[in-house]
Amino acid sequence: MKRILITGGAGFIGSHLCERMLEEGNEVICLDNYFTGTKKNIVHLLDNPYFELVRHDITMPYFIEVDEIYNLACPASPVHYQYNPIKTIKTSVMGAINMLGLAKRVKAKILQASTSEVYGDPELHPQPEYYWGNVNPIGPRSCYDEGKRCAETLFMDYHIQNNVNIKIVRIFNTYGPNMNPDDGRVVSNFIVQALKGEDLTIFGNGTQTRSFQFVDDLIEGMIRMMNTPDELTGPVNLGNQNEFTMLELAETIVDLTGSGSGLIFKELPKDDPQQRRPDTTLAKSTLQNWEPKVQLREGLGKTIEYFESVLNQGK
Ligand code: NAD
Ligand code: UDP
Repeated sequence: MKRILITGGAGFIGSHLCERMLEEGNEVICLDNYFTGTKKNIVHLLDNPYFELVRHDITMPYFIEVDEIYNLACPASPVHYQYNPIKTIKTSVMGAINMLGLAKRVKAKILQASTSEVYGDPELHPQPEYYWGNVNPIGPRSCYDEGKRCAETLFMDYHIQNNVNIKIVRIFNTYGPNMNPDDGRVVSNFIVQALKGEDLTIFGNGTQTRSFQFVDDLIEGMIRMMNTPDELTGPVNLGNQNEFTMLELAETIVDLTGSGSGLIFKELPKDDPQQRRPDTTLAKSTLQNWEPKVQLREGLGKTIEYFESVLNQGK
């Protein structure tokens, strides 16, 4: 049995990881400040004697004996990470320093949830890990993008200088149950709007693209990455290669929900990336043939079911 610390464990991805780690017979400490996460995501785990929930902010040091750390704490939706940009960059940078310091002291293996945002508005398509990106250092997204880039630097430097056993995954747009209905990201926005019969808000003309990964595929990739030989540090891309425009996504969600919603067009946020698709060759070759299994309509179906139940509870 391993003892595993999951920061951001009450969030969307973190809650799935907590559940999976417990299922695999580990002890899990879930650490969260509930900025965007909620106890509701992990309340069903509280009776499990191998699960512990700690309210803590990773910008402050935390001391515990653990074997592995998954560092997920950080708001991920543009609306939330831009709400308090200084706090966002502190979470990425000071959080990384605190968690790497902990990993160094207790000799734990540590995985960083990095992001496709390190590629910014990419000029190379699809994006392989060796691409250095096209990021505005002073724009509205910089607190997140540059915070995550700096965290990668810190991970690599702790590895080189202090021999910390690190793993970096660059996560591409991921969706699924346990997303907050007010999260603000496109999949949750469109589904909630469609279920409420409201018009779907397309930013810009809707021709920008993203590649959407269902959360179960990501969790499998993250765990495989954590279990790779020590010399494999990453970064490794984890994402689904099927790329869609926001118009296609909206039409698919209207179709799957059977909603009468229309589309309304709003201003495109500044620095919004025009295209994004992962090159997952490295993940496939290093993570035992890992590749996403859940395709968009199937994953959206499960996510729509989840939001239906959340919205019904709210009635
Ligand atoms: P989320 O907002 O649902 O989860 C983030 C969690 O971190 C929340 O529970 C939040 O309360 C917690 N948190 C935030 N700041 C904290 C702090 N200072 N101290 C302690 N806890 C804090 O987002 P998510 O989609 O689950 O993302 C999880 C991780 O994966 C993030 O690091 C994010 O950057 C990364 N990621 C996600 C995606 C995606 O598409 N979902 C893509 C790329 C990277
Ligand atoms: N988007 C949209 N309508 C929304 C929310 C987002 O058209 O209600 C667009 C957004 O401009 C971006 C894409 O959807 O081009 C993905 O946005 P999201 O916030 O989900 O993630 P990110 O931009 O970080 O990939």
